[in-house]
Amino acid sequence: MSSSNAHISGPPSDLAGAILTVDLDAIQENWKRLAAKAAPAECGAAVKGNAYGLGVEQVAAALWAAGCRTFFVARPMEGGELRAILPREAVIYVLDGLFPGQAEFYAGEDLRPALITLEEAREWAAFGTQYGRNLPCAIHVDTGINRLGFSTGDFETLLGDNEIMARLNLTLLMSHLACADEPNHPLNGRQKTAFAAVRQRLPGVPASLANSSGIFLGAEYTHDLVRPGIALYGGNPVAPDSNPMLPVAHLQGTVLQLREIQAGESVGYGATWRATRPTRIAILGAGYKDGVPRSLSSRATNGPAQVYIGDRRCPVIGRISMDMMAVDVTQVPVDLCRRGTRAELIGRNIAIDETAEWAGTISYELLTRLGQRFTRLYSGGESHFSKALTS
Ligand SMILES: *Cc1c(COP(=O)(O)O)cnc(C)c1O
Repeated sequence: MSSSNAHISGPPSDLAGAILTVDLDAIQENWKRLAAKAAPAECGAAVKGNAYGLGVEQVAAALWAAGCRTFFVARPMEGGELRAILPREAVIYVLDGLFPGQAEFYAGEDLRPALITLEEAREWAAFGTQYGRNLPCAIHVDTGINRLGFSTGDFETLLGDNEIMARLNLTLLMSHLACADEPNHPLNGRQKTAFAAVRQRLPGVPASLANSSGIFLGAEYTHDLVRPGIALYGGNPVAPDSNPMLPVAHLQGTVLQLREIQAGESVGYGATWRATRPTRIAILGAGYKDGVPRSLSSRATNGPAQVYIGDRRCPVIGRISMDMMAVDVTQVPVDLCRRGTRAELIGRNIAIDETAEWAGTISYELLTRLGQRFTRLYSGGESHFSKALTS
């Protein structure tokens, strides 16, 4: 996006601040790449957390238009929102399971709970009886992450309970990997083996194990359906290898002011950064209120965080404050860095995983914590959205 160098013209006034552009074409391309990689398995999409903070309305419609038919959210409310966006044929699983007393809501919105306990299975089965038919659901078995899902023992108890089993319409058997982003971690193999044993107990039911990184562990991990999230949104599923996905989130701050300071002068709150030579600095209108982590503030260790301005990377200096941040632009040609110039915080030149690492976090947290004050722009959105609504 060459617009990182572009100057702002005309309204709206909020464009003078921080801008998040979501590239829906890139999301579609990423989904297609993952689907090709996982084939013949079906490729679904994790769109929980408002599509990792990028806007579920636009993202889900784009994914639907690309061909995605199975979606995963965390909460029933997210499922309800998604159902209002997508056609009835879209399959929606709620990963956090069946919330107590909410079976009617799930059934009404045609949401499939990923059941995680015997209690949930019992409640869903009983509700189905009352509703007049066996309702679709996933069974989530824990194979070693020790987060959500049936323990192996409870799974056996479930299988032995004919009364419950006869009243469930099992459409998916799933589990979740703890260390998929570390291909050599021994837990991957152990979970794969444990999941194979689980599958043998319910041979006819479609199976799903892989998240984004899991898809890249090989064909033994993709089964019938994969559930990528972060890779759709441009996060690197195979780090530290080079990223096979396109960048999706483009974060820009705008230059509000430029100033020249002398050696010995400090910049920002706490006077934590001090110039060792005459320095030209740019103040950008993007701060922690916008979702720029305060932990990107300049530090002595691990090198400074960087943003891209004009034709090069520039170090962040001093502390990130609520509404702004400072950058050393001494090396940037003067005509490429003026009032109104946009600086790239995340995008084609600065990868989201890089910024996350500078901030001491991961791309997932960086995306989902983006503030609401970013002006949000979608590229490619309208056509996808109308396509989704009319198909
Ligand atoms: C969030 C989530 C995913 C997607 O994970 P990514 O690492 O973002 O690809 C898949 N499955 C489950 C159970 C999840 O909670």
